[in-house]
Amino acid sequence: MVGEREFRVVLLGLPGAGKGTQGKLLQQTLGIPTISTGDMLREAMNSGSELGRMARSYMQKGELVPDSVIVRMVEETIGSERCAKGFILDGFPRTYEQAKALDGVLEAWGKTLTKVLYFNLPEEEAVRRISGRMACKSCQRMYHNLFNPPPTSGRCECGAELGIREDDKEETVRKRVVVYRSQTLPLLEYYGQKEILCAIDASPTIENVQKEALKALCANA
Ligand code: AMP
Repeated sequence: MVGEREFRVVLLGLPGAGKGTQGKLLQQTLGIPTISTGDMLREAMNSGSELGRMARSYMQKGELVPDSVIVRMVEETIGSERCAKGFILDGFPRTYEQAKALDGVLEAWGKTLTKVLYFNLPEEEAVRRISGRMACKSCQRMYHNLFNPPPTSGRCECGAELGIREDDKEETVRKRVVVYRSQTLPLLEYYGQKEILCAIDASPTIENVQKEALKALCANA
């Protein structure tokens, strides 16, 4: 059944709520790509491109990259062939302007979002989860030294080395939480009014949160 449906999904939640982890699992189950704007910006940074240099100046401070840049990047990606059967957006939209722009793009294509999953987690727990997490330097898969340890210490499943993200320092995380509260949290009301919002308790194990996410998506997608 899942294979016949189109899913255009947004994942919302605090940094550290598990959007990246859950997005990658949903990608495997649903067979549609997860588009993470954070991953795209980090790839741009690693490639040394002009976009990467510009993005780093915001990301290092825990601030948001300007809407116009992000919207262009996302529009190009979700308009590509690999997203023709749907997509899962992780980390976008993060502002009201981005949400409006996404609706405008989809509307022009005669489409709408099917669901917005909100991974609900208390702020202190999100900050606790971020301290102790590691990212693969190649495929960007995330691990956590307690909750989701890598198969081999310091190495990703893909074999590449793990590292700590530049913006996962406590001071930067605190700033990201403040930015989330003021810029992204209002989107709950925006999507709530459209009746496509589904809140999921993000505190249980990865497996249980994944079950709830799939249940929510398959309920009436
Ligand atoms: P993430 O990996 O989603 O936690 O994103 C890491 C950082 O990338 C954020 O703190 C922002 O600086 C930047 N970023 C990612 N997605 C967006 C977005 N949709 N709008 C603006 N900045 C973003």
